Amino acid sequence: MKRVLINIDYTNDFVADEGALTCGEPGQRIEENVTNLTESFIKTNDYTVFAIDVHEEGDPHHPESKLFPPHNLRGTKGRELYGRLQNVYEGNASKENVYYIDKTRYSAFAGTDLDMKLRERNIREVHLIGVCTDICVLHTAIDAYNLGYKIVVYKEAVASFNQTGHEWSLGHFESVLGATIK
Ligand code: ZN
Repeated sequence: MKRVLINIDYTNDFVADEGALTCGEPGQRIEENVTNLTESFIKTNDYTVFAIDVHEEGDPHHPESKLFPPHNLRGTKGRELYGRLQNVYEGNASKENVYYIDKTRYSAFAGTDLDMKLRERNIREVHLIGVCTDICVLHTAIDAYNLGYKIVVYKEAVASFNQTGHEWSLGHFESVLGATIK
């Protein structure tokens, strides 16, 4: 079956020690897996999507402004991909099977053309990696479920600052969304 890898929010702000909303060590521990999976999907010519949160500084209308400190602001170092993943993206950005999406909500499907891009390519299976397991990965998985996609989540390539939320989400993906956990 044709598949897509959706690489969610693996940026400095969500992963680096100095990140504005960092997962810290659990986020850093998955770097090798996140980067290797991304390289392997690009290499096998599978569709590879970077779905990356973007915010405008001081946006009074965005609901996250009341919930979280400013993060992933457009044009900042905090929004760049963490570690070697930034090089992997830059080295492959022009490839036909690589697509970068600015997303403004938790789900990669909310307010983006991701669903249309997948339908155009007859892709029915989404593979999820990145952060945070219990926020953006979870909301993306729920939308994928509601849109009828088959879901695969790589447990060694997702992470959260909230270990309880992380564990709960892995169970939810499997038992409620019917996901395969790899
Ligand atoms: Zn955000």
